[in-house]
Amino acid sequence: MKKVVAVLLFLSFNLVAFGQTMPKDGDPALWAKALKIHKKAIVVDGHNDITTPLVDEDYDLRNTTVGKFHLGGDPFHTDVARLKAGGITGEFFAIYVSGTTMKTGGAMHRAVDMIDATYREVERNPDSFVSCITAAEIRTAKKHNKTCILMGIEGGYVIEDSLAALRVMYRLGVRYMTLTHNVATNWADAHRDEKHNGLTDFGKDVVREMNRLGMFIDISHVSAKVMRDVLDVSTAPVIASHSGARGVNDHTRNVPDDVLARMAKNGGVIMVNFYPSFLDARTNKEENERAAKLKPQLDALHEQYKDDQKGFDEAQRKLFAASPIYIAPYTRIVDHIDYIKKIAGIDHVGLGSDFDGVPMLPAGVSGAEDLPLVTYEMLKRGYSETDIRKVLGENLLRAMAQMESVAKIGTRKISGEGSLKRIK
Ligand SMILES: [Zn+2]
Repeated sequence: MKKVVAVLLFLSFNLVAFGQTMPKDGDPALWAKALKIHKKAIVVDGHNDITTPLVDEDYDLRNTTVGKFHLGGDPFHTDVARLKAGGITGEFFAIYVSGTTMKTGGAMHRAVDMIDATYREVERNPDSFVSCITAAEIRTAKKHNKTCILMGIEGGYVIEDSLAALRVMYRLGVRYMTLTHNVATNWADAHRDEKHNGLTDFGKDVVREMNRLGMFIDISHVSAKVMRDVLDVSTAPVIASHSGARGVNDHTRNVPDDVLARMAKNGGVIMVNFYPSFLDARTNKEENERAAKLKPQLDALHEQYKDDQKGFDEAQRKLFAASPIYIAPYTRIVDHIDYIKKIAGIDHVGLGSDFDGVPMLPAGVSGAEDLPLVTYEMLKRGYSETDIRKVLGENLLRAMAQMESVAKIGTRKISGEGSLKRIK
């Protein structure tokens, strides 16, 4: 009886602490164990696009984002409370810059706005957030019960073909760069835009300079040939900050088997994207079919609401809701983890949610608060606590420390001594 009371007390404590509920058909004892493991673990999420509304809408993450919608109509997934509820120790805010800047210019300016918004959000929330630039700082933040906000550039357009700009981005605290978004740069092909047959000579210089500085090369979004070229050149571990495995869903945003296999030697980490269309072929197909089917209505709505963004968002949501599609469940995330474990090994898989960068999340997941579901599913499938902790964050920390040790510049030398002091 005593034991039952203890378990119940423990359960209610954790349910309150994490603010989310057990899966419908879940096993309470296993759920309690999952929450315990999750709470203790260092959890690092490779990619979060909340930075865009921080800039465009001056969003304040102290306010709840539950039930709110981005411009464009997608639900919010991230705020201070939800990051805490998800047990997240390290969150990479994406310094996302669109490929359209290849035509319009302004990529570096946009990146500066995004970096500034990230720092301002940390300054607004000194009790919850801290800026981090090293693996060691993420470990320190865990001890202080704070969420590290890290930065990764999404879209190599930002450096405007300049290694000087790359170095300055490093000095501003950026610790990874996704070489492209969906459009090629002048030096690297994107998964949907191949014109250089991989990485150009300058692209290889970019990779070498990132190694020298101590910045992860992120192979999400690039073509498969660029992934291979990067692995040929890089002397440090690389990451895919938000991609799954093509072996589970053959999508160009996912990573092919031969690249997964090379991760073992490279020491890198594939951080699984939660977007159901990347996770699952059926969701992807039905989403594309719906977009094609509803195109005439969407075009008409664009015309009707051309001066009323909110009106358009609302109408679009209603239109989509009337044409529901199959949305893959959160367990599909763990199918990708299983697969990457099989091909690359348990030391080379992590989480890269893409929160606030995707129009929908897997069934069962509403936002950052639901990360313990992934821990629960891994536990259910027989993963050991050690292996679960690797996936949740330890793999990324190991790869990051290794990446830092390859660097010739030295993080502390270049950024001053203030970095550790900030979180003491
Ligand atoms: Zn992306």
